Amino acid sequence: FSQEIHSKFGGVVPELAARSHLEKLQNMTISLFKKSKIDPSNIDLFTATCGPGLIGSLLVGSTFTKSLSIGYKKPFVPMNHLEGHILSTSFNNEIVYPQLVLLLTGGHTQIYFMQEAEKIELIGESVDDAIGEAFDKTAKLLGLNYPGGIEIEKLSKNGDEDFFKLPKPMINNDNLNFSFSGIKTYINLLIKKNKLNNSFKNNLCASFQKTMSEIIITKLANGINLFKQKNIFVKSISIVGGVANNQYIRKNLEMNFDKKNINIYYPLKEMMSDNAAMIAWACLKNYKEKKNDIFFKPQPRMQVKNQL
Ligand code: ZN
Repeated sequence: FSQEIHSKFGGVVPELAARSHLEKLQNMTISLFKKSKIDPSNIDLFTATCGPGLIGSLLVGSTFTKSLSIGYKKPFVPMNHLEGHILSTSFNNEIVYPQLVLLLTGGHTQIYFMQEAEKIELIGESVDDAIGEAFDKTAKLLGLNYPGGIEIEKLSKNGDEDFFKLPKPMINNDNLNFSFSGIKTYINLLIKKNKLNNSFKNNLCASFQKTMSEIIITKLANGINLFKQKNIFVKSISIVGGVANNQYIRKNLEMNFDKKNINIYYPLKEMMSDNAAMIAWACLKNYKEKKNDIFFKPQPRMQVKNQL
């Protein structure tokens, strides 16, 4: 179920999200078991996202799943939501390591380094807004529909991507961190100074999308170079999270990184924005007996552990 209720607010309202989870989850699970002809007593292992995220929604999902695991006397494994995204490309690709993983969602913009399948190391992240948030806020300022990413991509097709020169904060820093809040402020000023007609909207969307794409590509290239200096040769890049769906960004990534040296992976479309399948997959991939923990408390600010 998507929660349409948030669209009129231009973003997710935590309390409404939790209530909607509570309303839908039980019936949805029963009907899914029926539809897929799964007898829940045949399930060996239960898992749920336990962080990071909105505590209300985390509590609903994890408590519901813990109850199933107690009822069916099977283990419960708490999962990190970000690990679900990070490992999502390994479902449909044979990953070659070392790998950089670029996580682009409404809540996070992060770069991870994976020397091998079992190790995830955070090497850069946004110091303020997430990239998906920048897309949504820009769309909201332009009066476009939520979620904003799809709308911006649509309007960009009719715009001039070189029309506006938007700032690219932190682009010249030698670290791998991002900053997006300055772009939002700049766009806000542009909107106040201009007439919000179609050509303005199209040009702004196209320029915004181009700027985002350039920031991402520069930071990935910097990451690859930083490792090269240490004699580590990055062999692949995974682009995960909802923003990975942006075809313009994909096209530019493919143009900028040589396919012969660097493989670029994307998750299946179904595993791109938030979904339960990627959490189940990440759990199966890294399942170890010691990870069972029915008493695990959901953590709104849960970190990805270096060693899985
Ligand atoms: Zn997510």
